[in-house]
Formats: sequence, C-alpha cells, structure tokens
Amino acid sequence: MTGDANVLDAVVVGAGWAGLGVSHALARKGLRHRVLERGRIGETWRTQRWDSFKMNTPNVQTIMPGDRYSGSDPFGTLTRDQFVALLEDFARRNGLDVEPDTRVIELIGGSENGAYRLATSRGDIWTRNVVIASGGLNCPVRPAFSRALPASLHQIDASGYRSVADLPLGVVLVVGSGQSGCQIAEELAEGGRKVFLATSRVGRLPRRYRGRDIMIWLVESGFLDVRREEVIRLAGRLPPRGLLGVEHTISLQALSARGVVLLGRLAGVEEGGALSFAGDLDENMRFADDASANVRRYIDGYIQLCGIDAPASEPDPAETVAARVPDPGIGSLDLAGAGIATVVWCTGFRGDFSWVRLPGVLDPWGQPLHEDGVASLPGIYFAGLDFASTRKSGLVLAVAEEAPRLAEHIFERSRHSR
Ligand SMILES: Cc1cc2nc3c(=O)[nH]c(=O)nc-3n(C[C@H](O)[C@H](O)[C@H](O)COP(=O)(O)OP(=O)(O)OC[C@H]3O[C@@H](n4cnc5c(N)ncnc54)[C@H](O)[C@@H]3O)c2cc1C
Repeated sequence: MTGDANVLDAVVVGAGWAGLGVSHALARKGLRHRVLERGRIGETWRTQRWDSFKMNTPNVQTIMPGDRYSGSDPFGTLTRDQFVALLEDFARRNGLDVEPDTRVIELIGGSENGAYRLATSRGDIWTRNVVIASGGLNCPVRPAFSRALPASLHQIDASGYRSVADLPLGVVLVVGSGQSGCQIAEELAEGGRKVFLATSRVGRLPRRYRGRDIMIWLVESGFLDVRREEVIRLAGRLPPRGLLGVEHTISLQALSARGVVLLGRLAGVEEGGALSFAGDLDENMRFADDASANVRRYIDGYIQLCGIDAPASEPDPAETVAARVPDPGIGSLDLAGAGIATVVWCTGFRGDFSWVRLPGVLDPWGQPLHEDGVASLPGIYFAGLDFASTRKSGLVLAVAEEAPRLAEHIFERSRHSR
C-alpha cells in the first residue's frame, strides 16, 4: 500500500470530450488529478469515424467548457479531424495532464485508507476518486446471428467503415437505420453502389425548421433538458438517438428515392443461409415520420408560447418525397442472388467497462449504474454517458454543464475526507 502523498484526489479514465471536460473542471477546483488514455486524445473520433464523417451538432454547440464559438460558420459542422484538433487544442490551452498510451487494465478498491488502485499498462496508480470517462458508445454491437453469415462475406461495423472505395466491389447491405446507418447508406448510394437498408425503429429530426437549425431550437426550447426518467416514461425505454442528417434532413423516403432498397428489420438467418426480414418497414417509416412531426409540433408550441417571430415552416424535400418501397415487400434475401458482397452493421454501440472490478457499479450486462453520473460506491463517477441525466447528456454540448457538477461532488467529498 502506498503513502497518502502518492494518493491522487482523482483519476479520469479516457481523453474524449467527457474526460477532458471533467479534467478542466477538476483543475479549476485545484484537485490533484491525471487523465489516463489508452490511445491519444480523441481516440474514438480518430479510429471509429468514417473519412467523410461530420458532426451533426452545429459549431456553435460543439464547444468545450469555458470556450465560446468565434468562427465564421456557427451553424456549420466539424469534420472528424477538426473535432480531434479542437480537443487537442483544448487540452493544450488548459494544460491538462493527459497520459496517452496508458491503458487502465483494472480498477479495484478495498485498500486500508480507502484509496482505489488502478492497474495500468504503465504501473499502478492510487486515487480517492475515479471518473470513468472511457466512453459508452465505442464498442460496436452486432446481433449474434451475424456469426452465421458466410466467411466470404465482408462484414464491418459502422466504426470500421471508412469510405465507399474501401469496400469490395458489389452490393452492400446496411443493417440499422439510425444516424450511422442512414448516413453511410446515403454515401454509398451517392458513390454509385446498390444498397439494401434493413430499417429499424428510430425517430427522425428535420435538419432545419422555421428558419433555424433544429439543434438551436432543441436547446433553446428546453427539449434537450428533459430528464432521463421522463424520456424513458415517454418512450417506454431509452430510445436510440433520432436520425439527424448533417447538412440536410435524411429520411428513409429520401434514401429510397436515391435508389436505396428499404427492408424491414433484419430478423435472422434462415436454414439455407438466406436473410429474413420482419414486415415492419411501413411501421418504421411511420415511426420516424411521427417523431419528426412531434418535434416540429413541440417547437411550434414553443414559438407560440414565447411569441417568437419565426418564419412559417417551409416544406422539407426529405420529409415530403414519396417513398419507393419494394412491392411486395422483401421478406427474405439470398445474399449471393442479390450480389451482396458487404454487410455494414450499424446496430448500435455500448461501452466496455469490464476493467471496473467494483461491487454495485455495473449492471448484470456490464453497463454503468449511476445517478447523474454518481455511482453508489463513494468516489466512483461516470462522465459522458448517453442520456445520463437528460436528453442532452452524451452530446458535447452537455459537458459544460455536467463536468463541473461532478467536479463539485468530488471537491466536496475531498474536503470532508481530509
Ligand atoms: C457515430 C457517432 C457519431 C456521433 N456524433 C456526435 C455529434 O456529432 N455530436 C455530439 O455531440 N455527439 C456525437 N456522438 C455522441 C458522443 O459525442 C460520442 O459518443 C463521444 O465519443 C462520447 O465522448 P466520450 O468522451 O464520452 O467517449 P469517447 O470519445 O469514446 O472517449 C473515451 C476515451 O476513453 C479511452 N479509453 C477507453 N477505455 C480505456 C481504458 N481502459 N484505459 C484508458 N483509456 C480508455 C478511449 O480510448 C477514448 O479515447 C456521436 C456518437 C457516435 C457513436
């Protein structure tokens, strides 16, 4: 066991926007801490986003704590590399103590003086508080039946997709019609590929509405401040993020008008190897349409309530174009017969917290248990998790609010333990 002098006030695991935001807040509280990163700053953005990837939060909202947007394109969006540069610049400007290439292998507790031990690829570190900012959306998830597909088929996850040119020639099946699935399907269609898209039950947002970028309305109207519990009550579960195109609205209808063949949810692999699809394509399209209509109604209500002089809603082509769907619907697909050479799994992400070996901190599926980022075990915190507190949690624009709250909790705890 180490002397108290070697016990830090806090260690932050992960140098994404969440970890850097918390480090900034801890520094402002004068707390002695380090940020441990298994790769480099912004590693997930460097290694898990495709080449043409752009953020879908506007520049004016893609800012780190203490910063203000001062550029000439407030409603434009950053590329993958520009966002990485923004994170690096933030860490440098604020003198954040980030240790790259330092993987945390194990986090355990139970020492006499209550300190936690982090076993890392560069030795052990002791600390009173740990902020787990290792990412809740950086491990792609595939359905188990993906293993039944032929070895000859090229299978990648959204996190492994880079560009059309990187894929073997042939038809592409994209599975999942969330953010990544629809953006990748659109890029593939624009790149001249024949694309099948297995849809899922995901809401949609128009990119612009009544004269403004939708994200500006969602922040200003308080739509994103709705608490996690209320989101679950309304949706019956934590919903996937609504589909939001980068510079224009993306809809299933608009993708089908570009030649993407829409299918229902991919249900499994049949005896002979063919893929089977649920008959829920119409339902999935209606669900997305209803979600978009709900958001527009919410904003109309806000505009009326506040007497804002906003222009009338203009027709959005992606929301008005007629869908071109296979008739009859496609219930089963023979991969070879359809010429499918690649499957891109856009079936969600989760986080890997397997190195956290502490009681009562993870649920039976290995995912975080917390209240607004505070775990039940004293001194353990989570940062950056999707829907952690409100609809905004998990987006860059939440860090300026949520990081100081965690730092304050750690500061109070440290004050009482001294
Ligand atoms: C495809 C996609 C697009 C998105 N687009 C946007 C967007 O446009 N705007 C927006 O606001 N949000 C967006 N998000 C949501 C969110 O911003 C991202 O999920 C973001 O990566 C979360 O930041 P983070 O810091 O919590 O996690 P991460 O960025 O994943 O950072 C975690 C860091 O921890 C490190 N790490 C992990 N395990 C260990 C370990 N054991 N030891 C040491 N280091 C470790 C990782 O290397 C990584 O650098 C998107 C999410 C996805 C999946």
